[in-house]
Amino acid sequence: MIIKVTGVEENMHQTLQHIANLYYEESTIIIGETDQWDLFIHIIQADKQTAYYTEGQLQDKKDGTKKADFWKETFSGESDKDRKKKAKQAVSHIMVKLLSEYTGTVQPWGTLTGIRPTKLYHKLIREGWTTTQIHSYLKTDYLLSDEKLNLLAEIVERQHSVLPDLYELDRGVSIYIGIPFCPTKCAYCTFPAYAINGRNGSVETFLEGLHYEMEQTGKWLKEHNIPVTTVYFGGGTPTSISAEEMDKLYSHMYKVFSGMEKVREVTVEAGRPDTITPEKIEVLKKWNIDRISINPQSFEDTTLKAIGRHHSVEETVTKYKLARDMGLQNINMDLIIGLPGEGVSEMEYSLQETEKLKPESLTVHTLSFKRASAMTKQKNKYKVAGRKEIGQMMDMTSKWTKENEYVPYYLYRQKNILGNLENVGYSFRGKESLYNIIIMEEVQTIIGLGCGAASKWVEPGTGKITRFANPKDPVSYNNGYEDYTNKKIKQLEELFQINNSAASTK
Ligand code: SF4
Repeated sequence: MIIKVTGVEENMHQTLQHIANLYYEESTIIIGETDQWDLFIHIIQADKQTAYYTEGQLQDKKDGTKKADFWKETFSGESDKDRKKKAKQAVSHIMVKLLSEYTGTVQPWGTLTGIRPTKLYHKLIREGWTTTQIHSYLKTDYLLSDEKLNLLAEIVERQHSVLPDLYELDRGVSIYIGIPFCPTKCAYCTFPAYAINGRNGSVETFLEGLHYEMEQTGKWLKEHNIPVTTVYFGGGTPTSISAEEMDKLYSHMYKVFSGMEKVREVTVEAGRPDTITPEKIEVLKKWNIDRISINPQSFEDTTLKAIGRHHSVEETVTKYKLARDMGLQNINMDLIIGLPGEGVSEMEYSLQETEKLKPESLTVHTLSFKRASAMTKQKNKYKVAGRKEIGQMMDMTSKWTKENEYVPYYLYRQKNILGNLENVGYSFRGKESLYNIIIMEEVQTIIGLGCGAASKWVEPGTGKITRFANPKDPVSYNNGYEDYTNKKIKQLEELFQINNSAASTK
C-alpha cells in the first residue's frame, strides 16, 4: 500500500509511517508528488496566528472517489515550539481519523506510538496531575480509548500498591543476570540464546566471567552502600546449566551481594520445561528463589514443534506440577497470542489448560515479528491470524483473567506487534513481579551482568536514561568481561556521583 501525503513537511515522514503501519502490514508513505500511490491524503494546514487550523481529505485511486470527509483540528498554542508540536499532533490525529474511517479499523491506543503508556501515566502523576486530568489529556491528545485508559489506571494502581516507594527507588539498583544458553533456539527468539549441547567448555568459562562480574559489582555496591531491590536471572534459560552450576552461582550471589536478606525478590526464569529437574528445583528452594517462570507459550504440540521449542505440552504440565509439589509457591507462565497456525479456539484451549494449573502470574504476549528472528526471516512460512482475530484473542484473555482473579500489573508495547496490541503481565494480587514493574517503568538502575545483559542507568533525581550492553555471544563475553566490568563500574561511579554533587549543592 503506497500512501501519498501532501501538505506536510518532509520531517513528518516517520510519524506518518508509524501511523500507516498501524493499519497496514506493508505500507510506504511518500510525501509530495508521485504517480505511484494507492491512497492519497491531502492535509491542509493554516496558521491563523492565534489558532492553528488543520484538515485532511482522503482519496482512493481505484475508483477515484473521496473515501473520507474532512476532519478538522483547531487549537491554539502559546509559543512557536508549542504550536509546532500541536500542528504535528493535529496531522497525526487527522491521519488516524481518516484511515480509521477508511479501513473501519479502530485504534484503541490512538496516536500513542513510541511512548510507554504507563510510564507517561506515572510521569503525569509525578507532575501532580489528577486522574481526571490525565484521562482527559490522553483521550484528547492521543485519542486513547476508555478501555485502554481503564487498563492503565488499574495497572498503575497495582504498581503503587506493591511498590509504595516506586518513585523513590532511584537510590538503589536491581540486578539482571543473563545466562545465554538454551536447549535449542526457538524460531521467534532474538534473545542471546545459544544451544547448550556440546558447549560445556564455554559454559564453564562463561560462568567464571560471570562470577567475576558479580563479585566486582557486589564489592562496589557494598562500598557505596547502595541497596539491591531485586535480582532477576534471565537469558537464555538460566536453568539450562547444571544443578551444580546453579548451586555455585546462587551461593556466589549470597556471598558477593551484601544484604541479600533485604532483597525483595529473586526470580529465576526456568522458561523451557525441558531444562527442569528435581535436582534443580532443590537448588532453587535451597537458595530461597522467590519466583520462577515455566513457559508453555502454547498448549498445542504442533505449535511448539513449528516454533522450535522441542518440548511437549505434557512436559510443561509435568514439570509445573513437579515444581509445585516440591514447594515452589510463585510460578509465572507465559502465553503468546498469535503463534503460527493458532486462532481463537487454540487460545481458548490454552486458557482452559492454564486454568487447571493456576500459576500465580500469567504474562500474555502478542506475537511480534522482531527483525532478527528466524520467523521474520521466513515470514511466508508462518501463517498467523489476522488483526481481527488477534483482537478477539486479546479480549478473550482479558475476560478470562478477570474471571480467574488475575489483575494486570504491567504492560508494554513493541514495534511490529500483531494487531498493534500489547503485552500484559497479570498476577494474583500480591504475586506481582517487582522486577518487571521496575524495568518497565524505568524507575531504577538495572545493572546487567553476564551475556547479552543490558544495563539501564537511571540517573537519580532526573530519571535520565543511558544504557550499556554486554556482548551477546559467549566468546566475545569471555574475552572481554574484565573490561566490561570496569567500564560499568566507572559509569556507575559517574551516575551516583552526579547525584552526590547535586545533593551537596542543595
Ligand atoms: S527458550 Fe526463550 S530464550 Fe531460549 S530460545 Fe526459546 S525464546 Fe529464546
